[in-house]
Amino acid sequence: MKTYKNFIDGKWTSSCSKKTFCSLNPATERPIGSFQDSSKEDLDLAVTSAEEALSSWTDTPAPKRAEILFKIVELLKKDKERLAKIEVIEMGKVYKEAAGDIQEAIDIFEYMAGEGRRLFGHTTPSELKNKFNATIRIPVGVVGIITPWNFPIAIPSWKLAPALICGNTIIFKPSSYTPLCGIELIKILNEAGLPKGVVNLLTGSGERIGNPIIKHPKIKGISFTGSVETGKFIRKNAELKKVGLELGGKNAIIIMEDANLDLALEGVLWGAFGTTGQRCTAASRVIIHEKVAKTFEKMLVNKTKKLKLGSGIMHNTDIGPLINKSAVEKVDYYVNLGINEGAKLLYGGKPGKIKGFFYCPTIFSNVKPDMRIAQEEIFGPVVSIIKIKDINEAINVCNNIKYGLSSSIYTENMAYAFKAINKIEAGITYVNASTIGAEIHLPFGGVKKTGSSREAGWAGIEEFSEEKTIYIDYSGKLQKAQGIE
Ligand code: NAD
Repeated sequence: MKTYKNFIDGKWTSSCSKKTFCSLNPATERPIGSFQDSSKEDLDLAVTSAEEALSSWTDTPAPKRAEILFKIVELLKKDKERLAKIEVIEMGKVYKEAAGDIQEAIDIFEYMAGEGRRLFGHTTPSELKNKFNATIRIPVGVVGIITPWNFPIAIPSWKLAPALICGNTIIFKPSSYTPLCGIELIKILNEAGLPKGVVNLLTGSGERIGNPIIKHPKIKGISFTGSVETGKFIRKNAELKKVGLELGGKNAIIIMEDANLDLALEGVLWGAFGTTGQRCTAASRVIIHEKVAKTFEKMLVNKTKKLKLGSGIMHNTDIGPLINKSAVEKVDYYVNLGINEGAKLLYGGKPGKIKGFFYCPTIFSNVKPDMRIAQEEIFGPVVSIIKIKDINEAINVCNNIKYGLSSSIYTENMAYAFKAINKIEAGITYVNASTIGAEIHLPFGGVKKTGSSREAGWAGIEEFSEEKTIYIDYSGKLQKAQGIE
């Protein structure tokens, strides 16, 4: 089995800890490689390198930095198929979704390369004569990027691309369930010609290496995507660093009595069972008008029965494995909890019969809004159907959770649609589309316990830069603001 190394100061390096860990293929439970179990000592080396690289990288004109990003785009495009296959093997999602993940990386690097010729500040009049006011963008400094396993190439890219174009240097820690995807991405960044020290990669657990990244005094910003629990820990321990947190979700699709049910069905299948329900934006609740609930439940069960579980590499697989054994146990725990809470199990409710970390797509009906299966993030292929009587109740139920990431409404009624847009407490609302499928040039993020950060598009630039205010007084005398004589 191959042993992979960290990337520090432009070189592939073994950890000072001399320890390694394995990453498994969730469809076969077989190890795919061994990786460095990095330590605080490795982090110190990486931070020293990132600090040394900072000034020259920041001084490189942004359009020149962009040339490297355009090269990354080219290399990602050339390698798309291979990278997608690696992602299927390490993370488990089906091939076409993995290819979408790589495409998202391509798109964000391309978008951010374009920002190299913009990176706007703004100008504004002064209240005084002969004075010029403006803002410019400066990098945050050395930043830590910590990412989850469910989009192991796209999410790191959502952070790396803006961080690079803004002139930061980076310590990147991928999830310990998908270190190979992180390594493959960094190989491409290196091949594109990033100077040494600009990006450093350390593999290892959240506790052993993520934690010291959060606390490192020379790291000035943290961009994190992951669970609410880790997000809270980061908020508490990162002291005064600039922190971006993209956390969990418990997203709902509302289906009103006038909805196109065939369209809604496609949206629910994709939202609930795409990526085996392991998306922060997964539709884990269907809030449906009582007049159409029975018909829709039948339609959903019929279609779900036809979904095929299997390795994501097979072209006829609809649902790949969960990420690991404890994810299977967690999903099974929630399924039993749902039954005990009095929800009706309409379909599924058991692990897959094949080897690997599989779980059958599962549908509950008669779910009450306060049941734990309707409140907590299960992060698996489980959907809860909740009946409502009108749009106000639909929105109340939709909002009756601690999270606020994505949401959706299926209706032909403009008034319902705009009520949902205005009243749902979430960072994203779709109309007549599922809860998943972000486009990279729009801001992405949530409210409430999902965290209030935004990334992608221009929001990514704001996350990885500071706005500096410039006053230029060319009056030749001391002028005082606020009318002070
Ligand atoms: P996680 O919080 O367990 O881990 C995320 C990353 O944080 C990993 O790299 C992990 O090693 C690291 N980490 C864990 N403990 C740490 C600590 N104490 N200090 C520093 N780093 C630490 O989450 P996960 O299981 O990898 O991902 C699933 C979660 O991510 C779900 O809740 C999902 O909703 C969320 N998610 C959110 C978004 C979003 O954009 N809002 C996108 C994808 C996933």
